[in-house]
This record gives sequence, structure tokens and C-alpha cells, in this order.
Amino acid sequence: EGLWAIPGLVDLHVHARTPGQEHKEDLESVSRAALEGGYTHILSMPNTEPPIDSPEVLEYVQSLAKDLPIYVFFAATLTKGRKGKEMVEMGILSRMGAKGFTDDGSWVEDDAVMLNLCAYASHFNCRIISHAEKSSLSTGFANYDLNTLKYGMKFRLPLAEELAVYRDCRMAEITGCQLHIAHISYHRSVEIVKKFKEMGVKVTCEVTPHHLIFSTENIDLYDPNFVCNPPIRDEENRKALLKALKEGIIDFIATD
Ligand SMILES: [Zn+2]
Repeated sequence: EGLWAIPGLVDLHVHARTPGQEHKEDLESVSRAALEGGYTHILSMPNTEPPIDSPEVLEYVQSLAKDLPIYVFFAATLTKGRKGKEMVEMGILSRMGAKGFTDDGSWVEDDAVMLNLCAYASHFNCRIISHAEKSSLSTGFANYDLNTLKYGMKFRLPLAEELAVYRDCRMAEITGCQLHIAHISYHRSVEIVKKFKEMGVKVTCEVTPHHLIFSTENIDLYDPNFVCNPPIRDEENRKALLKALKEGIIDFIATD
């Protein structure tokens, strides 16, 4: 009584931090935490040290994940070293079991490189996961309002996400590739995804629990626990994200 029976949950956006950042998290700690929360399948992001950008690194992490209490899958990077220039061996990595390709933590800024990546992803039937955020408009951590600009503070402009989401959706439309937008946080980006979905473009998106629960009105701005990327935005925006989730425009909740 008072308990819920649910199917095993799937988290599409997890940072297991292996290899290279085991002081933050490792495959054992992340799978124990996931299991505690009811998750049986997780997808680990490739922005590790070294990044998961070669068959050798992918094979290594897959070998570590064999005896864990849950299923851990890995995404590979889109570009070598996550530098946004040279494509990884997408076909080989996909055949080895990489579930999606992403330079998570950064966005592929170069339009020509991204177009080529989308074309390859379409050919190999791979999914691109986009950390959609233009770096020139995301220099700090604060959510933008006019005062942050006036006082010369560093910020992460929601426009950085909106522009990146639009470009990536257009490239998915042109090439026919599958595109997934990670941690969407701005209601105008959600409107863009909605429009492209209605046009039949293969685009999905996820939202984090913290962007659904918190807004700048109800957090302590001096508390570093609330510093996250993309930043917590205002209350009106939070409500719009919740509405889009209920309407099925946002497809997944993922913890990042
Ligand atoms: Zn990200």
C-alpha cells in the first residue's frame, strides 16, 4: 500500500563521467543511483576524458558496463575530441552499439561540418543528439534579463538555444536525419520543435526535472546548487515547458 508499480525507467541523458572524471561519478555509482530511482536503462554521454570518439574508447567503456545492475548504453561524440571539426567514424561506432552521437557540453558551431554530420547520420540511420546552444551567446551561467546585459555580466542568452535549435531542425529537415534536442529549456525553442514536428521532420526533445520544477522566482540565486547549464529560467517559461510536456511536444524527461 502506498507504493507504485512502474516499468523500469529509461534516462536518455546521464553523465557517468567514465573514463577520466571518476572523482565526480563512475559507472558503479551512477548505476546504483539509477536503480535506486527506478531506472533500468541509461544512456551515458561521451564528454569524458578522453571523449568516446573512437572504437577503442567505446569498446573500453562497454567492457566496464557488462556486470552492472542496470543496462548502460553509450553515446559517441560527433567530432574527434569534441572539437567540432573532424567527424568520428560514425558507421563503425554505430555498428559497435553507440546509441546516438553528440558533442554534448558543446554545440557544433560550424554549419558546414554539421550539415555533413547530419547527412552521414541520415545515411547510417544514426541519431544526432544536439546540445543546442551557440557558444558566443552563452559565456556565463546566469539566465539573461536586460539587467545582466546592462551591468556587463556574463550570461547564457535563451536566444543561444533558440538559434541553435532552429539551425539543427532545418538541417534535419534537409538531410532527413533523426535529431534529438537535449535539455530544452526555452519556450521559444519548444515552439520551433513543434513546428518542425508538424512538418514531419524526425525531431524529438527532452526536458530536465529541474527545469520543470524550479524557476528564477523560487530559487536562492546565491545557492551554487542551482547553477546548471542551461540555466533555470523564469516562471512563465517553466509553465510553458510543463505544458509542452503534457501536450507531447516534449517527448522525454531526462536528468542530465
Ligand atoms: Zn548538454
